[in-house]
Amino acid sequence: MRIDQKPLTQIATTILHKAGAELERARAVAEHLVIANLKGHDSHGVGMIPSYVKSMMSDLIHPQNDALLTRDSGAVLSFDGNLGFGRVVGIQAMDQGIERAKSHGISCVALGNAAHLGRIGAFAEHCAEAGLISTHYVNVVGHDPMVVAYGGRDRRFITNPFCCAVPRTDGNHVVLDMATTTVAAGKVRVAYMKGEPVPEHSLVDRNGLETTDASVIFSKDGGGAMQPFGLHKGYGLMVMCELLGGALGGNFTMQPGNQRAGATLNNMLSIILDPSAVGDLAAYDAEVTAMIDYIYASKAAEGVEKVLIPGDPERQSLAARSTNGIDIDDNSWQDITNAANAAGLSTDDIKALL
Ligand code: NAD
Repeated sequence: MRIDQKPLTQIATTILHKAGAELERARAVAEHLVIANLKGHDSHGVGMIPSYVKSMMSDLIHPQNDALLTRDSGAVLSFDGNLGFGRVVGIQAMDQGIERAKSHGISCVALGNAAHLGRIGAFAEHCAEAGLISTHYVNVVGHDPMVVAYGGRDRRFITNPFCCAVPRTDGNHVVLDMATTTVAAGKVRVAYMKGEPVPEHSLVDRNGLETTDASVIFSKDGGGAMQPFGLHKGYGLMVMCELLGGALGGNFTMQPGNQRAGATLNNMLSIILDPSAVGDLAAYDAEVTAMIDYIYASKAAEGVEKVLIPGDPERQSLAARSTNGIDIDDNSWQDITNAANAAGLSTDDIKALL
């Protein structure tokens, strides 16, 4: 089915509210998910609702909780996310980090124990809107691992996203926002739901051999695993996300001494930098623009329309989906409807909101 952002946001808000979230928080999370859909990341869009509702109903996340400041070292702030909604505690932590970066030139924000943060680019964009550069190392914990270490066969990680954004005065920020696996786990889920193959080099089967069949992850007797992107280099970045985002940001890594109760949780270490504290802002902006123009002027390879910079695909998707609506496959919609039913909304209630 195809649905416009407004009714989809309303449905998502209503489900999360009915599942126990206070209305404004439910709306903030719903908007965060729908923006992920609009930006082309269905893996981190409304398809997450069943997992959120399940965690809420099992008391594994606590949507009413705010981020709690646990340590203030001036330019370095540490927060306990308190199992609050990732979107909510993440923005609360970023807001304070932004304030400190403006007064100190740089800040570092550690956020541990947050419920799923969703699309990490949202937090980088929030910093970029304030004119600040940011880098985010994130690990994923709280459930069993899904990803092999480079050269390994058995699972050791989840999908540890990394994100770095450079603000631009015209609002077309450069945003590199990615899982350190070849594809995000949610994209494997979407492929599984649609019965489609995943891209090459994404998965290995139980014997450690590459496969494009998503059922090795999501079917009961799958036995496969996801792979880091880019051989040893992507794997290295995944390890850094685990150590900086996980061990430092939240003192909570994937090692088996830590709890795996079944919710998807994130820890994030963010470094936020004011470019005007480094040098001449106008000269820096002009240099960024000149370099980006030089990149755009590349001769495109055969079959490629135009060379892009990180953040462009999301802008293109946003423009198209804001106009045309968002496609949701039948299996994902059924899962969302089931989650709504579990939260106490009838299928007719959902239909009425469409
Ligand atoms: P992706 O592979 O679609 O894109 C990764 C990056 O590459 C983006 O910055 C994009 O702008 C850029 N890009 C894509 N095509 C490009 C091109 N042709 N030229 C230049 N740049 C290009 O993203 P992904 O790895 O599938 O991640 C999807 C989302 O999943 C991200 O928002 C990420 O934060 C999120 N995620 C979240 C978690 C979590 O636990 N919260 C875990 C993993 C991933």
